[in-house]
Amino acid sequence: MKRNTEGKLGVWLAVVAALIIMLVGLLLILTREKGALQGSREEKEYVTPSKYEGVQIKTTEEHEDDRRYALHISWPVTENENINRLLDKSAENFIAEYRESVTKIKEAREDYIKETGLDGATFHTHYNSHFDVAFANEDYIAFVFYNYRNTGNTGTEDVLSKIYDRHSGEEILLSRLFAGDNYLEVLSELSREELRERAEKEAAGMSFDSQNERQQWFESIYRMIEQGTEPTAENFHSVVINEEGYLVINFDKYQVAPGYVGVVTVEIPLSKISSKLSPGVRELFDLVEEVSKPTPPPAPPRPPSGGVVNCAVEKCVALTFDDGPSVHTERLLDILAEKEAKATFFVLGVNARVQQSTLRRISDMGMEIGNHSWNHMDFTRLSDVEIRGQINDTANLIETITGVRPWIVRPPYGAFNDHTLSSAGAPLILWNVDPEDWKYQDTELIANHLISNAKPGSILLAHDIYGTTVEAMPAVIDGLRSQGYFFVTVSELVGHDNLAAGRAYRSR
Ligand code: ZN
Repeated sequence: MKRNTEGKLGVWLAVVAALIIMLVGLLLILTREKGALQGSREEKEYVTPSKYEGVQIKTTEEHEDDRRYALHISWPVTENENINRLLDKSAENFIAEYRESVTKIKEAREDYIKETGLDGATFHTHYNSHFDVAFANEDYIAFVFYNYRNTGNTGTEDVLSKIYDRHSGEEILLSRLFAGDNYLEVLSELSREELRERAEKEAAGMSFDSQNERQQWFESIYRMIEQGTEPTAENFHSVVINEEGYLVINFDKYQVAPGYVGVVTVEIPLSKISSKLSPGVRELFDLVEEVSKPTPPPAPPRPPSGGVVNCAVEKCVALTFDDGPSVHTERLLDILAEKEAKATFFVLGVNARVQQSTLRRISDMGMEIGNHSWNHMDFTRLSDVEIRGQINDTANLIETITGVRPWIVRPPYGAFNDHTLSSAGAPLILWNVDPEDWKYQDTELIANHLISNAKPGSILLAHDIYGTTVEAMPAVIDGLRSQGYFFVTVSELVGHDNLAAGRAYRSR
């Protein structure tokens, strides 16, 4: 009897346990399916070295729903704990802001889908933040941070700079760079002068229907300049000195110019304002004796048409690197120099502006420089004027720095249509081998993909903003060379004479 009761209890327990297991299983399946519907969520965090002594790069990446929501932020780690605390804090704020935005946009999208039955393709959150070192010596370090936020068709872009004492970790305030208290007035005056001059130059190349229209254009531009350069600390929140001896003033998108221009930068040689600078800065840049900067060396000659390798006969490929120059580009150039391989760099104006010496080295090494727009805007969403602005501003800057004006253009995201082709006025260079290095960030995977997918005449896509990509290059070059490939620039691959404006190229 007793035994019998125990047996029944056992059966009941088994039934209940089985039910619980089934329920948990069902729940798991449901959650998995929900996950699959929204795309899986991925998070990554890693630290890589930089070309600057004592500075490492910390990166956090998150994305979900097939990159409808994506975050990519890199920030510096220094040898000073005080500096790191400050930098970590502002990175954490940016990440928190991204997550909040994702929650909001998800809700908005769900409502939109419910109401319209449409898919809500424009609802997304893309946050990107990266930095550059403007200046570094044993005592001081200056960073420039670029923050992009995009939650719809247009995005905001702001630039912020910070200068630190590397020993004490304390932030060096802008006022300490100048001799008097009126530094905001000095900055305001200098940037107004420069920006008005630029507006006049721009207007000279424009055609107005009437004198009245011309005047209106000037009035609106001057109003923006005036407001954006009022002598306030807020307007001058990104002012640094770079290693080339320039005072660099960055203005956010929309601050002193229409949105399509993006971030605006004014650079003033320190030698021009030496009497206004603090004794410390003057000493740092030897400004007492040096009155003017030495003239830059003459521009290097263009590579000969067709190059040395005849790609009609030999097996050629063109390695291309987008989105730089970055803190990883110097290392890439070392590799290319050692392996004696040529490549093409599709640079962004915003990055070329800060990495001027790197850009000059790219050019001096006989690499080809192409135009990848000013700040990575999707050209299919821009007007004629905006596309030309993106291309011309970048080309002007590259020409000023290297002496060579780039012609070939790679549209950001490879996105283009007939309108882009006619507006760009340049050959658009796409690619036919893409290891998706930004997604995998895996040196071996990137190398294998490039080596096994390259064919004679291929244009290979990579990004020199990732350390993992740069480290894949020795293997890629050795691997393809052993198969008889030559590494040439895009213009050499396609042939200078075969390149034509208004056409797109994916390979030779
Ligand atoms: Zn790009």
